Amino acid sequence: MSVAVAELELADGRRISYRIAVSPHSHAIRFRLSARSGLVVTVPRGFDRSRLGAIVDGKRDWVADRLERFVAANPPPVGAAPPREFRLLALAETWRIEYQATPAKVTIVRTAGSGRIVVAGQVENVATCHAALHRWLVRRGRDTLAPWLERLSGETGLRYGGVSIKGQQTRWGSCSARGGINLNYKLLFLPHEWVRYVLVHELCHTVELNHSSRFWDLVRQFEPGAREISAALRNAREYLPAWVLQPATA
Ligand SMILES: [Zn+2]
Repeated sequence: MSVAVAELELADGRRISYRIAVSPHSHAIRFRLSARSGLVVTVPRGFDRSRLGAIVDGKRDWVADRLERFVAANPPPVGAAPPREFRLLALAETWRIEYQATPAKVTIVRTAGSGRIVVAGQVENVATCHAALHRWLVRRGRDTLAPWLERLSGETGLRYGGVSIKGQQTRWGSCSARGGINLNYKLLFLPHEWVRYVLVHELCHTVELNHSSRFWDLVRQFEPGAREISAALRNAREYLPAWVLQPATA
């Protein structure tokens, strides 16, 4: 079995490298995603490699979907204790978290003043605390990212259909054919100018729902550093605390 490496660009601009394996026993092209090997594309012996790029491109939505599910099912390990503090770089905010054990069945989370969050309820359960903090982050995202998008829409003249804030595992944002924009609250942990770029990127999709050169020309019109930021964003998960990468389960 010989192996080569190639790269696939997903619809949202992320690049995924994959290995090409040649199998003498296989008659069809097979795609496999695993923790150990990443994405592996197996082709029959004698297969014309020049055709492969287009075939793999055709599977990119499948790959994006599998990747999303894969990351959700294989979260990084988190500490035994919930966090005491976190920093939202995009907003230049630091938040301290207090935990109050109460007999209430429902665990609630509230902002208790500037820079202070209180989680009250079943706080001995770490997963419950994380879930509460994720809910708080969704609200913070709604309060800050949504008006930010609105301002940028006004500045650029790019109209969108609506915005929702979610906790996607692998995407920072997306835009539907109807101009509905989804933003990931995890953006709050990234540098301010990177978030601005993601918002501009999604707004430009309301005009060009693709990553053609026309699309990139439009993005660069509003964000001249788009190329550099988009490259830097590939390692942006390093900015996220482990508990934020963990899918909220409770
Ligand atoms: Zn895009």
